[in-house]
Amino acid sequence: MIIAIDGHSSCGKSTIAKTLAKELDFLYVDTGAMYRAVTLYCIQHNLIDTNQVQEEDLRHHMSQISISFQQVENSEFSEQKTYLNGVCVEKEIRGIEVSNQVSVVSTLDFVRQKLVEMQREYAAKNNMVMDGRDIGTVVFPHADYKFFVTASVEVRAQRRYNELIAKGEQVSFEEISANIEKRDFIDSTRKESPLRQADDAIVLDNSAMTRKEQMEWILQRIKI
Ligand code: C5P
Repeated sequence: MIIAIDGHSSCGKSTIAKTLAKELDFLYVDTGAMYRAVTLYCIQHNLIDTNQVQEEDLRHHMSQISISFQQVENSEFSEQKTYLNGVCVEKEIRGIEVSNQVSVVSTLDFVRQKLVEMQREYAAKNNMVMDGRDIGTVVFPHADYKFFVTASVEVRAQRRYNELIAKGEQVSFEEISANIEKRDFIDSTRKESPLRQADDAIVLDNSAMTRKEQMEWILQRIKI
């Protein structure tokens, strides 16, 4: 069984997805982490500079990029830690530097092809909850359940800001809000697999919902 959770940036998709995976005992895959890992690789190898990707060089590097996950269980979540070429990069990929450049890297067709292939391989072996932007539209158009999550920009920016400050990052609310709006724009207007709601997706606007309310709402709609 595949449960696809798509939606706007920083709307809490991954919290929903990993809680749901724990509840149902499914594998959780955060596809945003995969695009973030490729972006980190670009930064580490000087393949990106102020949102300009050296496309041809990156194309040649793709075979040297290996992304893997370690599943971690706690009482609330089934989480994953992301590894880039064998090194845990979970902290680095969540920082503002990667967030500011990831949407540009995600527009590249050859990057998407490689990552979508990996995503489909996971599903061949597991019941899965996968979150991203194109899961219900492109990666698994026949997913058993599709949810499209959204919330107002202000609510999303405030949640993300609180999260980053709690992790000790030096960021401003304005910077976070601008990043979210920019990512929404690039993600939904790009040529390759733009972010859009699948026709058969169920919409969840969680602007005024607690985590608990969201989980109840979503579980009411899933029959195993
Ligand atoms: O979900 P998250 O915010 O971590 O995703 C980071 C970025 O990765 C998104 O803004 C988007 O550009 C890209 N992405 C994508 N397709 C996915 C998942 C993420 O293009 N399936």
